[in-house]
Amino acid sequence: MSEAPPKEGPPKPSNFLRAVIERDLAAGTYAGRRFAGSPGDAAHHRAGPPDGARIRTRFPPEPNGYLHVGHAKSIWLNFSLAAEYGGICHLRFDDTNPEKEEQEYVDAIEEMVRWLGYDWTAGGTSHLYYASDYFDFMYRAAEALVEAGHAYVDEQSADQMRINRGDFATPGTDSPFRGRAPAENLARLREMRDGLHADGAMVLRAKIDMASPNINLRDPTIYRIRRATHHNTGDRWCIYPMYAYAHPIEDALEQITHSICTLEFEDQRPFYDWVLEHLADLGLLARPLPKQYEFARLNLTHIVTSKRKLRQLVEERFVDGWDDPRMPTLVGLRRRGYTPESLKLLAERSGVSKAGGWIDYGVLEGALRDDLDPKAPRALAVLEPLKLRLTNWADEIGAGQRLPCTAPRLPGRPEAGQREFTLGPEVWIERDDFAEDPPKGFHRLSPPRTDPGGAALPGSRVRLKYGYVVECTGCTKDAAGQVTEVQAVLVPDTRSGTPGADKVKTKGVIGWVGAHDAVAAEVRLFDRLFTDAQPDAGERDFRECLNPASRRVVQGFVEPSLAGAQADDKFQFERHGYFVADRIDHAPGRAVFNRITTLKESWAR
Ligand code: ATP
Ligand code: MG
Repeated sequence: MSEAPPKEGPPKPSNFLRAVIERDLAAGTYAGRRFAGSPGDAAHHRAGPPDGARIRTRFPPEPNGYLHVGHAKSIWLNFSLAAEYGGICHLRFDDTNPEKEEQEYVDAIEEMVRWLGYDWTAGGTSHLYYASDYFDFMYRAAEALVEAGHAYVDEQSADQMRINRGDFATPGTDSPFRGRAPAENLARLREMRDGLHADGAMVLRAKIDMASPNINLRDPTIYRIRRATHHNTGDRWCIYPMYAYAHPIEDALEQITHSICTLEFEDQRPFYDWVLEHLADLGLLARPLPKQYEFARLNLTHIVTSKRKLRQLVEERFVDGWDDPRMPTLVGLRRRGYTPESLKLLAERSGVSKAGGWIDYGVLEGALRDDLDPKAPRALAVLEPLKLRLTNWADEIGAGQRLPCTAPRLPGRPEAGQREFTLGPEVWIERDDFAEDPPKGFHRLSPPRTDPGGAALPGSRVRLKYGYVVECTGCTKDAAGQVTEVQAVLVPDTRSGTPGADKVKTKGVIGWVGAHDAVAAEVRLFDRLFTDAQPDAGERDFRECLNPASRRVVQGFVEPSLAGAQADDKFQFERHGYFVADRIDHAPGRAVFNRITTLKESWAR
């Protein structure tokens, strides 16, 4: 009996997969396993030492596109379960389909798994594998199944096969080729392999039960003829194994213990077990065999995750590319500023269960805030700038003088240090922090005016955060009536941080940056890519609910402490939300920030 190793940190919410693993560890289900240091058949592993990994999981992407937020959940699940229970997680490219797979995707997937913080190297051994490296074994296993009478070559047309498969209500009908002798099937299989037959002329099928209530067990196809160049094996093969046959073999050769997948594969589990049991009986695969477990995929609202649809968004130019900050791809989310930690928090908070459902996009935003709140340095930024001129500067402070101001990099964390900037006679404020004719309850700047009863009202007083209290005295407008400048005076003895500075009553606090030292910045503001929570639900074309206002670009100003910001640096712009320096376009002399998400809390007073 072995016990789970002590867990670190607060207890994690349990889930059915942890329960399964704990049960297997307690029962010693996998205790006698051996691992020869690399994938292989029964004889290979039998010659190896006992497996030091208590469990083995794997993340098995097909390299036919970019990873998305749903994959992050699968990566998190497989790698974190392995880590938690003293196991190892493999990264396996499930590249058995020659048609759509490319090196570009292989590289991008590796980069994203690493970015999420995971490593497939354990004890100096890299557990990065390609399913296509197992083609030889898969073929040898197919011959063994044929010789044992468990598989046959079917020469029916695709149409005949489909008709004879039956449906949910009707049992299937045996193929006329089903009764052929093993020797004849073996000869045909070898002809298929040797390229003597045209694509689609025949297939190899498992011989199970054409009347099974599970259609996946009605003699599923295990090999097909397909003349296509494979990114790894080139033109060596003209027959390729089907996913449902290949996947259990890949797991078994790698000595995977817990093969975790999404619910769509539940009906395939009996065939998964069928393949492994038969090949283990034939002595080809080592026992104990892997087991498949299914969980509900992550569905996040306001996005689509099907690779086909993501590709459409890129190819039809609804977005700028795979890494457009509005894309739910991992490259897009990274560029938008989402952190690995926030994606892992989302994965954890979305739960691991058998019940599907939709997770609101807001859960991802909440996870990002929770991650960045304690660590993203604060900064003042003005996104829609309006000039504020302090008309008594020369008298109060002195012409040409600047007042040094400080603010905490992280509130409540003095050890994180201070930001420094200066106040001068002209500052940028947000356009909507001024109203010439303020609505009721307006807490920001407004000029002196006369109320409906004829009484004179003074201009409003607000604090320029970390600076001074100012009182609005007026504004200037252009010919079109647009406000071009606001004027105010400093209120004496109200400098932030000086004794008595708080004695003066103000309407509120506003953000600002000095016109003399602010850094001009392009700021990209994003909203949901789709207006509908479930863009691809039902029959509707998801392109019909694209949000036309999903991106807005403004020219703003940020405080001078951001002059040295590096690509990927993240900040909280006070009041505006969390921002990241764009990893592609931000450069010395050209500041470009993406808004990751707004702040949930209202502007702190
Ligand atoms: P798509 O359907 O968009 O092509 P896929 O599921 O075919 O995606 P794979 O590369 O085969 O993509 O997926 C690799 C792994 O990621 C699989 O184990 C799959 O179950 C898992 N996965 C894919 N999408 C999600 C999701 N939304 N939630 C959780 N896991 C997922
Ligand atoms: Mg797939």
